[in-house]
Amino acid sequence: MTQALTPPADFQSRCADLGLDLAPTAITQLGQYLHQLLETNRKFNLTAIRDPTDAWHRHILESLTLLPHLADAKHVIDIGSGGGAPGLPLAIARPDIHITLVEATGKKARFLTDTAAALDLPNTTVLADRAETLAQASDHREQHDVALARAVGPMRVLLELTLPFVRVGGRLLALKGETIESELRDAGDALMILGAGDIGFHDALPDSDDPAVIVQVAKDRPTPPEFPRRPGIPKQDPL
Ligand code: SAM
Repeated sequence: MTQALTPPADFQSRCADLGLDLAPTAITQLGQYLHQLLETNRKFNLTAIRDPTDAWHRHILESLTLLPHLADAKHVIDIGSGGGAPGLPLAIARPDIHITLVEATGKKARFLTDTAAALDLPNTTVLADRAETLAQASDHREQHDVALARAVGPMRVLLELTLPFVRVGGRLLALKGETIESELRDAGDALMILGAGDIGFHDALPDSDDPAVIVQVAKDRPTPPEFPRRPGIPKQDPL
C-alpha cells in the first residue's frame, strides 16, 4: 500500500497534548489506513465520516486516546470494529500488543483483513464473527486483558458482548458519548450479573465538539457460562 493521507497541520501538537509520541513510520501507516478507509467507503459504507480532517480526528486521535490505558496489556480484543476504530490505529501504534478485531459483517471484516495485510500488521487478527458466538470459544473466553468497543450499543448490551472476553483482573474500555450516565443507570443488572467491578472515567478528546469519554469497567469475577446469550438476544432483550 503506497498512498497515504497526510495528517492535518495540528496533528503532531494534538498528539503531544495527549502525551503521545508516534514514530514517523506509524504516522505514515495511519495515513495509509485512512486513505484505504475513505477510498473503500466510496464503494460501501464503512463510516459516516468522509472528510479527511474529521477522519484524523475521530478515527485516529480518538482511538489513540486509549493508548495510555493499555500500558500493561498484551492481548486486546476490539468488538464491532466496523471500519477499524479503535483497534487498527492502536495496532499500528503498539506493535507489541496483539489486537483481535471482531466484526460480524463479512464485507467490513474483509476490508479489515485486507488492510491489516496491506499495512503488514502481524499483531492483528481479524475474525468475521458475532461476539455472542466467539465469546463461547475457549481460545477467546476470558482470555483477553482488555476488550475495546466504540459505537456498538448501549452499555447494558455492550457489557454482555464484551465482558465475557475479559480475564478476571482485566477491563473493558468503551468510548462512549454524552448519554453515558443514563446508560450506566440502566446497566446495573448487567454489571452485577456479568462480573463487573469498579467503573472509572477518562476524557477521550477534551477539546472535541463531539464529547467522548473513556469508560473503564474492571472485571473482578468470572462471567457465568450462559452469557452472552444467543446471537441477537443481548440487543433484543438487554439485561
Ligand atoms: N467500532 C467502529 C467505529 O466506532 O467506527 C464501528 C462502529 S459500527 C456503528 C458498529 C459495528 O459493530 C458494525 O460494523 C456492526 O456490524 C458491528 N457489530 C454489531 N453487533 C455485533 C456483534 N454482536 N458481534 C460483532 N460485531 C457486531
